[in-house]
Amino acid sequence: MRIDLHIHTSPRSACSHLNPGDLMQEAQRLELDGICLTEHQVVWEPGDVEELSQKKALKIFRGNEFTTNQGDILVFGFYKDIKELLTLQELREEVQTAGGYMIAAHPFRGFKTFGIGQLQLTVEQACTRKMFEFVDAMEIGNGKLSDEENKMAREVAAKLGLPGTGGSDAHRVDEIAKWVTVFEKDIRNEDELVAELHAGRFTAVKED
Ligand SMILES: [Zn+2]
Ligand SMILES: [Zn+2]
Repeated sequence: MRIDLHIHTSPRSACSHLNPGDLMQEAQRLELDGICLTEHQVVWEPGDVEELSQKKALKIFRGNEFTTNQGDILVFGFYKDIKELLTLQELREEVQTAGGYMIAAHPFRGFKTFGIGQLQLTVEQACTRKMFEFVDAMEIGNGKLSDEENKMAREVAAKLGLPGTGGSDAHRVDEIAKWVTVFEKDIRNEDELVAELHAGRFTAVKED
């Protein structure tokens, strides 16, 4: 199953220009099997997802992108709406209790332009980032990042033995499915998505 794990829609994500209806249309045109709605600090209500899906074959799953003191985290299987900023450790405890799954989103976004870039951040140094102790996986393919930024994430994930996911991080219709996650098994609902994530039966794939 080809699933875009990282999508922002308007108006739930203020930064997005992607209307949920247009998302559905484009996802079907691209023949995706599933999409994940990962707004910033907002979880979709099940009734609203139901309404959006209109019994179409395309599966819609809910996630959430939390901002923490150590970076953005994609969370699945955790449906609490938390508005205040949590530390990564606090979020980890909440999500673990719920049996959810945490992915470090775009972990090396802008690493070349930040100060660390000038020091020629090595993969070894990048691996020591504290946040990687608190996540289950790392986004190794993010549609908004450069190949170089994604490559750094891929190499760090491999070295740390963390699974790697792919998602577009789309905020516009033409950005959907630039990266996807391909799952080995059929996934019918959110519980199965979380189970397959925990089982690690997936691969990040770049599409164009
Ligand atoms: Zn983000
Ligand atoms: Zn995002």
